[in-house]
Amino acid sequence: MRDDDRDPVAQDLNDSDEFFQQAIRLRGQQRDYSQKIEALLRQMTIEEKVGQMTQLTLEMIVNGHDQSVQIDPAKLQKAIGKYGVGSILNCYNQALTPDKWQELITQIQTAAKRTRLRIPVIYGIDSIHGANYVRGSTLFPQEIGMAATWNPELMKRAAEISAMETRAIGIPWSFSPVLDIGRQPLWPRFWETFGEDPYLTKVMGVAFVRGMEGDDVASQDHVAVSLKHYLGYSFPLNGRDRTSAWIPENYLREYFLPTFAAGVRAGARTVMVNSGDINGVPAHANHYILSDVLRGELRFKGFVVSDWADIKRLVKDWRVAADEKDATRMAVMAGVDMSMVPNDYSFTDLLIALVKEGAVPQSRIDEAVRRILRVKFDLGLFDDSMPHPDLKSRIGTAESRQVALQAAQESLTLLKNANDLLPLSKDHRVLVTGPTADSLISLNNGWTYVWQGSEPSLYPTDRLTIRKAIENKVGAANVTYFPGTRITRPPGTPSNSTPTNIEEEVDIPAAVEAARNADVVILCLGEGSYCETPGSISDLTLGEPQLKLAEAIESTGKRVVIVLVEGRPRIINRIVAKTDGILMAYNPSNEGGQAIADALFGDINPSGKLPFTYPRTNGVVAYDDRPFETAGAHWPIRPQFEFGEGLSYTTFKYSDLRLSKRVISGNEELSISVNVTNTGRREGREVVQLYLRRAGGSNALRRLRYNPVKVRP
Ligand code: BGC
Repeated sequence: MRDDDRDPVAQDLNDSDEFFQQAIRLRGQQRDYSQKIEALLRQMTIEEKVGQMTQLTLEMIVNGHDQSVQIDPAKLQKAIGKYGVGSILNCYNQALTPDKWQELITQIQTAAKRTRLRIPVIYGIDSIHGANYVRGSTLFPQEIGMAATWNPELMKRAAEISAMETRAIGIPWSFSPVLDIGRQPLWPRFWETFGEDPYLTKVMGVAFVRGMEGDDVASQDHVAVSLKHYLGYSFPLNGRDRTSAWIPENYLREYFLPTFAAGVRAGARTVMVNSGDINGVPAHANHYILSDVLRGELRFKGFVVSDWADIKRLVKDWRVAADEKDATRMAVMAGVDMSMVPNDYSFTDLLIALVKEGAVPQSRIDEAVRRILRVKFDLGLFDDSMPHPDLKSRIGTAESRQVALQAAQESLTLLKNANDLLPLSKDHRVLVTGPTADSLISLNNGWTYVWQGSEPSLYPTDRLTIRKAIENKVGAANVTYFPGTRITRPPGTPSNSTPTNIEEEVDIPAAVEAARNADVVILCLGEGSYCETPGSISDLTLGEPQLKLAEAIESTGKRVVIVLVEGRPRIINRIVAKTDGILMAYNPSNEGGQAIADALFGDINPSGKLPFTYPRTNGVVAYDDRPFETAGAHWPIRPQFEFGEGLSYTTFKYSDLRLSKRVISGNEELSISVNVTNTGRREGREVVQLYLRRAGGSNALRRLRYNPVKVRP
């Protein structure tokens, strides 16, 4: 253990970490494409170079809607033939079949082959929890749930499958993982993070990168990643997406930078920029962050892509640039190599003009294009950019689905189990109620078939909601179901001024009546789906209809188990005391219903650990267990549930804590060991968490270091 806190790379994860060793070994073996790149650059015109730096949305080259979307030859010719656009992104409003994807990508790459220099297009997509824009793909728990598994090997396997299924349709680049730190629970992208802890995020993030990029990123098994959203995106002061973060430099380096440093070190080929600002400077115009730190300190060699329309926002929202031309100059000079424009040719036209006028030097353009071409070479696109029809059969296999089920199972986190109510007996009469009980949408959240995850018709019909999985487990005759309340979305496209989800009572009296006739009530609470700006809220309290339902059910005196299906910690303090069991499910995705039923009825033993501090009251969260905040005499802040909490159906005994040395100095290593014994009657998995606290000093934070282990009886 070392004390070089200012070095984000050296801190915590060192070269002995297996995944890093892999990345370092691979760096040594990487092919050098410099000669080919330089030869191409010499032939390229300014227009061709700037084209490579341009990324457009698929919408710019297609007609039609939904599954009938078709390439428009004239639009394609304009984008690829005339403008030489280097990258296309996203899906046009909904997940497409593998056949459709392959058809589109084939046409795009065919157009690229007809250009003078035959430079392939790099297509990018948000494979956030699997290849979520591909019909029939394998979907995994969202990152917040994957973090709760504390199982990097499983994260790596999930990322391998996600990469394989993305590449199988001909797409070689994913905009994931999210390495932002989740310390602002209002933020609507909280569930896209690995939670609050930089160490856990680094471990899981590195596993994600290694899984996606693999040993041979050019192979048909892997894709390039994009670490996002660099830097400080997740910490908006007001909780709203894409707004200002106030993060002093020491906190930026201590909490927000290390995860990106680790991702870069693990070999990540691209980085996406934060849409917000830090300390008043929009990240897209921040030379210090994008160049001095990322290139100078972290030695990142790949390319930097902007986020959605963020160069335009330097004018419209941040007002740091006079016009779009000025904004384009600022962003490119700050270090943006590729602009996710995404809906017009303004970036391309303006940047060409800026180079011709001398306002942006040729050398900066060459630098950006060199980086982009290198990733295209690394991905093998110059040799083979076409989708392979035979790879479609790799999508959504039974074996991959099993990994997704395992991930969902390992993510489930038991937060309360009074009088060992759980696991439940399978001959109980059960009332299943609550708005998330019968909803695949809640189990998945955003980035699922559509951006907002909100289109029921796109969900597979053979996956079990919690209700269905419980019916299968104990027999439909033993299960009564009343939703109690519902969460719906207002019709039309969500805007910043309409709430994404509306909650209303449905049949609370009927649910209460049914509770009286049941042995136990499984009360499924939480959230509907949301993503980015439309998911912003200003109050973390769980919806009033749900609290009312819970209180009414609890007042019957029946035993109640709350299952939380939510992407951020909604405040539940009003209903915690009177419930017997609480199972946190996060957003476990399509296998989540099965996993939850398995846990409730004891077919698996929950082992997840909470990857964030669950606040007790609205707006008050104390991180890192500073004693003066959490145990102070005046007004201690007690979270509802602590970071790292998670019960089991068995018990573990810790003994024989040993330190290899009593005193260490400098960079000396210290080994710590402990014996863990399963002292209960069931098989179980335990995550050994090691926390360090600096003795004395004003900054006595508690810090995590850990080693996950599986302990059997
Ligand atoms: C999001 C990114 C995403 C991009 C492309 C943006 O709105 O912030 O995370 O990768 O869209 O879909």
